[in-house]
Amino acid sequence: MEAEVLVVGAGIAGLAAAYFLAERGVPTLLLEREAPLACTSDKSTEAYRAFWPGDASLTALVERSLELLAPFVSLAHPRPRGYLYVGREEGLMALVAEAPQAGPLRVHRRGATYPKATEGLDLLRPSALGEVFPYLGHLRGYAGLHVRRAGWLSAHGLGMALLEAFRAHGGRLVRGEFLGVERVGGRPAQARVRTAQGEVLWSFRALVLAVGPFLPTLLSALGYGLPLKVEAHFKAWYPDPRGLFPREAPLMIWNEPQEIFLPEEKDLLKEEEGLEFLLGTLPPTAHGRPEGEGFLVLYNPRPGEAEGPGCRPSPPPWAGEVALRGLFPLLPGLRAYLGQRPRVDGGYYVRTPENRPLIGPLDQGIYLLGALSGYGIMAALGAGDLLARHVLGENLPPYAKDLAPGRYQDPGYRPKAAMARAQL
Ligand SMILES: Cc1cc2nc3c(=O)[nH]c(=O)nc-3n(C[C@H](O)[C@H](O)[C@H](O)COP(=O)(O)OP(=O)(O)OC[C@H]3O[C@@H](n4cnc5c(N)ncnc54)[C@H](O)[C@@H]3O)c2cc1C
Repeated sequence: MEAEVLVVGAGIAGLAAAYFLAERGVPTLLLEREAPLACTSDKSTEAYRAFWPGDASLTALVERSLELLAPFVSLAHPRPRGYLYVGREEGLMALVAEAPQAGPLRVHRRGATYPKATEGLDLLRPSALGEVFPYLGHLRGYAGLHVRRAGWLSAHGLGMALLEAFRAHGGRLVRGEFLGVERVGGRPAQARVRTAQGEVLWSFRALVLAVGPFLPTLLSALGYGLPLKVEAHFKAWYPDPRGLFPREAPLMIWNEPQEIFLPEEKDLLKEEEGLEFLLGTLPPTAHGRPEGEGFLVLYNPRPGEAEGPGCRPSPPPWAGEVALRGLFPLLPGLRAYLGQRPRVDGGYYVRTPENRPLIGPLDQGIYLLGALSGYGIMAALGAGDLLARHVLGENLPPYAKDLAPGRYQDPGYRPKAAMARAQL
């Protein structure tokens, strides 16, 4: 078999790259060993935000993705309700100061001035928070930052729309496993692939590796070293028969450190081995949103290292309850669901030290599209389009160099050590 471009991995990233290549008229094969979208892309909270304090390049990538979403909205079904960060006003203003690209900031002392908006930021001072969001009225002295260019969408809908559009442009999805690269005249030119018919060699002009959590092991097998780590993250879905999670709520984030157990609960738990870290002060970023007849919660105060390459980490027994407890400062009524069994699942974040993705050339004819951490759904379209630009030698946007694998060879590349909000 021969392809101009061979894309390995039909997660959301590979699908987006394959679509943008096929759409430009490039004969493209998409190789996947399982069902499309069955690995990490099936496990996300499906949230998006063009708000990345401290990282203008990542913000620009997500902005671009949101622009490219237009043809897919009927299946991706975006819900632009925003992200509501809740915490001390100083902490929220620190986020704003690091996100000058996020648009105008409107500050409200009273709920009456709070606008209907889809752009910019609204800071609700403590006197206004409960007026706009009555279910947060119990919080005294806390403010809210409503990021408007944010919300959630259907990752599956977006992925299926991409697959359909890829096929409509002549692209082919093939079942098989990528095993390695053969060089011809010193240049990577053939892929070793296991299909139902056995092992075969496929020629390509360009090879795109979009293999999600398998990227670190694949890169080392191919002899490339890049600074990557893989973390297990989990989410929990709780049914909400009592209607305790407001159906109309935005995605809400508790932006303060917190303790999730009461003193008497701690007394009961302190004998339990391996739970000590949950008894101290835990970092911010517990978050949740309504979903179907229930709600989704996500809080990983200490993400686990991957046990090995795979799609489905097994959640620790406490994952669902910890996520629920993380939301108690925002919605204390949820305590009523302690003891309920949520549906817990998760996947792996592949991350670089500065939490930026790897999009661009790795070697002659080999391209990477990965390390999409906890933002691969929201960044997929921008990432796929950027990858297609690299492959075809088109003009690149200014942020491309900050996201390209070659950045680590540039002595001038100095990302901020702690790129913000990495966990969400
Ligand atoms: C709990 C959780 C919550 C998240 N929440 C969000 C969120 O709210 N918003 C957001 O934007 N992102 C979120 N993410 C992140 C997002 O899900 C990922 O960044 C994204 O799905 C990664 O997509 P991918 O295509 O790179 O990888 P994957 O979806 O894992 O796809 C990789 C594909 O490559 C295939 N493959 C691998 N090796 C081979 C091989 N050798 N041959 C053939 N095929 C191969 C695999 O089978 C797989 O289908 C979350 C992730 C998790 C785990």
